[in-house]
Amino acid sequence: MPELPEVEVVCQGLRPHLTGRKIVQIRHSGMDLRTRIPIAEMFRHILSRTVVDVARRAKYLIITVDNGARLLIHLGMTGRLGFFPFEVPAVRHDHLSLLLDNDLDLRLNDSRRFGAIHVFSGEEAAALDQTFFKATGPEPLGEGFSAQYLIDKAAGKKQPIKTFLMTTTTVAGIGNIYANEILFAARIRPARSVATLSPAAWRRIVQHTRLVLQQAIDCGGSTISDFLNAERKSGYFQVHFKVYDRQGEPCPTCGRPIEKVQIGGRASYFCSKCQK
Ligand SMILES: [Zn+2]
Repeated sequence: MPELPEVEVVCQGLRPHLTGRKIVQIRHSGMDLRTRIPIAEMFRHILSRTVVDVARRAKYLIITVDNGARLLIHLGMTGRLGFFPFEVPAVRHDHLSLLLDNDLDLRLNDSRRFGAIHVFSGEEAAALDQTFFKATGPEPLGEGFSAQYLIDKAAGKKQPIKTFLMTTTTVAGIGNIYANEILFAARIRPARSVATLSPAAWRRIVQHTRLVLQQAIDCGGSTISDFLNAERKSGYFQVHFKVYDRQGEPCPTCGRPIEKVQIGGRASYFCSKCQK
C-alpha cells in the first residue's frame, strides 16, 4: 500500500509532465472505485482546462486546473498512474484516463479498486482545508508538525505511541510501515503509552519522522527518474526497511533479533534493546 513517501514521489514525477497541459478527453471504465468516480463533475470542472499545479496533501494527489477546480486522486491499495501514448490500448483495471494535448494519456490502473477520485469546483476547492481535509492532521514534513503540537495533541491520552502516530487526525499520511521505522529510528517502543513520553522523546519522534520520510522520498525520486518510461510500476520502489517485516532478523544497530507484536491490530516490529 502506498504511504506518504510513495505518493510524494508520484506527485513529483507527475508534476513536470502535467503542468501546463490541457486535458482534452476523459475516459472511464464504467467501474467505480472505493467511491463513485464523479465522471459528470469531471467533465464539468476539468475537461478542456489546463493543469496549473500538481501537489499532495496526506495521501491524496491534487491536480489543480486553470479555473481553480481540483481533481483529487487516492491510490488506495493498488492504484498506479502512468503516461501512455494515446494509441496504446487500455488494459484490464485501467479505470480512468485523462488525455493531454500532447497525445499522452494519464491512466489510473487499480486492480483492487480501493482508490478514490474526487473533483471540486473552484469555489469548493478553495475551502478544502475546512471541509474535505478538516479532520486531517498537519503534514509531517510541514511546519505545523512539532514536538509541542504532539504534546498538546496527546494530552489526556494513554494510547500506544504507534497507534497515535498512525491516526490521521494526529498527523497526515503515516501508515504502518513508516510508523514502525520512525519509532525504531527514534528509539521508542511502539507499545509505549503517549502519557509516558518526555519532551526529548517527542522531539526525537518529530526529527526522525522527517528524516525517515525524506530519505524514503529521496530514494523513490532516484528510482523513478523518468515517469514516461515507468512500465506501469510508477510509485512503487524498494526502500530497505530496518525493522518492518523483519521479525527474527538482527537489529541493524545491536544485532538482537527484531520482535513482532500486534498493536491496535497492526503488526509492529521493534528491538527490545534499542527501543525503550
Ligand atoms: Zn537493537
